[in-house]
Amino acid sequence: METDLKDLAIKKAILITGGPVRIPGDMVLPFHPSRSTAGPGAGSVSIVLTFRGMRVKKAISRKEGEFELVQKHGGYELLRNGHPFIPVVEIRPTIFHSPEQAFFNLDTECIYDCKFCASRKLDKRITKNLDLDKVVSMVLNASKRDDFKAVAFTSAVVDSPSETVKRLAYVICRVREQLDPDIPIGVEPYVECFDDIDRLKAAGADEIKINIETYDEGTFKKVCGKQDFRWILKAIRYAVQVFGRGKVCTNIIVGLGETDENVLEGVSYMAKIGCVTTLRPLKLNDLNVSDLENSLGHLEPVTPDRMIRLAEGQKEIFELYGISPLSFRTMCHMCTCCDIVPFRDI
Ligand code: SF4
Ligand code: SF4
Repeated sequence: METDLKDLAIKKAILITGGPVRIPGDMVLPFHPSRSTAGPGAGSVSIVLTFRGMRVKKAISRKEGEFELVQKHGGYELLRNGHPFIPVVEIRPTIFHSPEQAFFNLDTECIYDCKFCASRKLDKRITKNLDLDKVVSMVLNASKRDDFKAVAFTSAVVDSPSETVKRLAYVICRVREQLDPDIPIGVEPYVECFDDIDRLKAAGADEIKINIETYDEGTFKKVCGKQDFRWILKAIRYAVQVFGRGKVCTNIIVGLGETDENVLEGVSYMAKIGCVTTLRPLKLNDLNVSDLENSLGHLEPVTPDRMIRLAEGQKEIFELYGISPLSFRTMCHMCTCCDIVPFRDI
């Protein structure tokens, strides 16, 4: 890897694994910050920063932060602990949750109890409680924006996976029938039968993300004990038959006490069957740390070096099996804000 590019990827990894960005009290942001109800930033107020082609979503604070955004020569510079870190950064707008993408989480209440999940513990005042037709109209309104490129939907499981899939299929179908056919739709569901996957495809989804969360089955039982590891592997295999190679992706969370070998074994398993992994560093926060440490013991934070090392290993595996995150036009592989993405960042 070119040294310059690797230096930038390390800076991105430092940002992803680091603390919030302080915004000086008198600075007026050019865009509304985003308040996420899913993903690693669930519950926090964030902005998207870009630098030299890299994109990162960072929680912001008006009080304190490991990083600080300062105005310089009409643009912005990023400091880290008071020292120059990235000389030129830009602030980018999100559409809903993500840049260039309307990515909606339909629900945050969940019958499952994944120990890392902050989403279901959010204060009900910030979980939005949107009805389905309102979501459809928000997507259609957003589609008028010049920077609009993609749509995606996810949801926690309020009642059962199949009932949730029906709601996801409803919004996909309503959006699909009214949206430019070239705009891709991604979906990130929990499924309980092959019919759920067929239903989402039939509704008009182009890409699907079914999360395995960890490739260490023992860890899976401890942190996602109400879900079934073996079934998720089967569902991913079936999803590749339905959606195609390079149109199915899955999260592997890094930082749950697993080894690098286990992570890369998971990446290889998925690559072999045509599924493109996202390696997502665990974010420990007030909402998840005690549940996680009660289940898994003390957890070491993911370091930027580990993120880079794993992303390099992941890239080699992708090359070997001829798959790439670049085949995605929706969800996290398109957004790239929370991970070191092979072929984009390294
Ligand atoms: S399935 Fe797990 S990660 Fe997903 S919303 Fe429910 S508790 Fe959270
Ligand atoms: S990478 Fe994924 S989780 Fe992170 S902001 Fe983008 S869409 Fe959300």
